[in-house]
Amino acid sequence: MCRDPTRRSLRPADLDTLAQARFGSRCDGPLDMKVILANPRGFCAGVNMAIESLDRALEIFGAPLYVYHEIVHNKWVVERFQRRGVIFVEDLNDVPEGSPLLFSAHGVSPAIRELSRQRRLQVIDATCPLVTKVHLEAVKYAKLGYTIILIGHEGHDEVVGTMGEAPDRMVLVESVEDVERLEVPDPNKLAYLTQTTLSVDDANIVIAALKRKFPAIHHPPKDDICYATQNRQEAIRELAPQADLVLVIGSQNSSNSLRLAEIANLLGTPAHLIDGVGELQPEWFEGVQTVLVSAGASAPEDVVQDLVKHLETTYGAQVEHAVVRREDVHFPLPKSLRSRLAAQGANS
Ligand code: SF4
Repeated sequence: MCRDPTRRSLRPADLDTLAQARFGSRCDGPLDMKVILANPRGFCAGVNMAIESLDRALEIFGAPLYVYHEIVHNKWVVERFQRRGVIFVEDLNDVPEGSPLLFSAHGVSPAIRELSRQRRLQVIDATCPLVTKVHLEAVKYAKLGYTIILIGHEGHDEVVGTMGEAPDRMVLVESVEDVERLEVPDPNKLAYLTQTTLSVDDANIVIAALKRKFPAIHHPPKDDICYATQNRQEAIRELAPQADLVLVIGSQNSSNSLRLAEIANLLGTPAHLIDGVGELQPEWFEGVQTVLVSAGASAPEDVVQDLVKHLETTYGAQVEHAVVRREDVHFPLPKSLRSRLAAQGANS
C-alpha cells in the first residue's frame, strides 16, 4: 500500500535510521509520514456515561468504592480509578455488605442483581442502555416461549450478563460451525440476538447461516450491534486501504477494539491493537508512509494523542483528520445516581 516507491526499496541503513529515529537518538528530521486520524474513534456514549457515573459516585461515596467487573475494558481507565480507591471485583462476596457498588457498562445477569439485593448493596447500574436493550429483547422472547440464539463471544462480561436473563432458553453461538451443530426444540419459535460489539461482517455471516438453517427465525427490528461499534468499523473499512499500517488504541480484552484491528488485517493492511506508545515495535514502521490511527470505544483520547505526538516527533508525521461519520449520542447518568446527586444538591 506504500504510495512512495522509494520506500519499498529502503536499504538496511535506511531501516536502521528509521529504527533509531524510533528511539530519538538519530532522528535528523521529518520522514514525511502521514497519520490519518480516524473519526469516529474512542469513547462511545455508553463508556462516557459509565466513567462519569464512577466519577460522580466517587464524589458521593468516597473510597473504597466497589465495581463489579472492569468499569470498561481498558487498562488505563481501570488503573486510573484504582489509584483513586476503586476496587474492581469479579465476585460479589468480596464486597462488604451494605457497600455502594457500580455495575459496569457491560451489564449483569438477574442473579447478580438478586445477590446484590441479598447483600444490601447500594447499587448504581452503569449498564449501557444499548446492552440493556438486548437484555430486554431476551426477556421478551423468553416470555413468548422462544429459544434465543445469542451470537457472541463466550466468557465476555456482556454475554455472561445477557445469557443470565434466560439461561434455560438461550444458546450461545460464535461461528457458522456452531450453527451447523445447532438443534432446537421448535424452529418456528426461534430468535437471534447479538452481542453489541461484534464485527458486523462476522455477525452477518453467522446470521446468514442461521437464516439458511432456520428460515422462520425472528430477530429484533433494530440491530443489536451498537452504533459506536458500527461507526468505528465503518471508518476502519473506509480508511485502512489508504494506509500501510493501522494502529488501534485499546486493550486486548476490549471486544470492539479487537474487531477494529481484525478488520484492518482482513483488508490487507497490517494492524496492531496496542494499549499505548510503549508497545510500538520499530519494525512495524519499515517502509511505512501512511499510518491510520483509531481507538476502541473504551480507549481514552489522551492515549491516542500521546501516540500521535510520538509519531510527529519521531517520524515527522503530518496529521490528517478523516471524518467518516459524525456522532451525537449521549446517555444520561443512571437514575439512582441522579437521585442521589439531586438529594445531595438539596442538602448542600
Ligand atoms: Fe454501549 Fe456500544 Fe459503547 Fe458498548 S460499545 S458501551 S454497547 S455504546
